[in-house]
Amino acid sequence: MVSFQQVQLIRLSHQWTRQNQQVFWQKILHLNVPERVRVFVWLAVKGKLSTNSVRKFRHLTYDDKCPECKEVPETNFHCLRDCVVAKAVWSKIIPSNRQQQFFGVEVDEWFQKNLMDNSQGGWPGDWASYFCLLTWYIWKCRNDTVFKGIRMSPSTLHNYVTSKASEWIKAWESGKVGNRSINKLPRSEILISWSALPGGYVKLNSDGAAQITSGVANARGVLRNSYGD
Ligand SMILES: [Zn+2]
Repeated sequence: MVSFQQVQLIRLSHQWTRQNQQVFWQKILHLNVPERVRVFVWLAVKGKLSTNSVRKFRHLTYDDKCPECKEVPETNFHCLRDCVVAKAVWSKIIPSNRQQQFFGVEVDEWFQKNLMDNSQGGWPGDWASYFCLLTWYIWKCRNDTVFKGIRMSPSTLHNYVTSKASEWIKAWESGKVGNRSINKLPRSEILISWSALPGGYVKLNSDGAAQITSGVANARGVLRNSYGD
């Protein structure tokens, strides 16, 4: 028996040349998104997100229906585009003259077009990265609804996913997060050790970290005398 994931991969291989596929995978690797979103997109394209269809295929459940609309099997594509809440959110984001194409294509073409063609969303920036961030937050909020009972109205959800995705894009563009050029700086190994001060003195060693996007920061310190106590 051929699974729906295998069907997706077969269709991908039939419709794209090997060279096109390599360009596509390279595109995913170079999205301006957090690493977890890159992995999420990779799994979504391969049909391997943990949906009821996947769980049924793995004999983990008897019911593959969508827990939200309870109408059709819960596949990756259904969760991310066609389920009632996801569709309501996308309908607010995608310009009306582009919606027929956005909602009318099948899963492989949907990912291909939105990742490879920057004009798809009618958005004046890096649509591929923005699209993937929106998709990620739709998936994340859906999980919160299914597993935690946290439910937002389509309007509230639209505001939430667009603000979170825009926040990341702005942070990326300002170089505050995820700037790969940081990784290109030359590195050198520096060995450090604690050295005691003369008797009668106390030394304070401290360190801290801050998350720029959320504003959360924390710091700790340790006081030691000349004996290291
Ligand atoms: Zn549904």
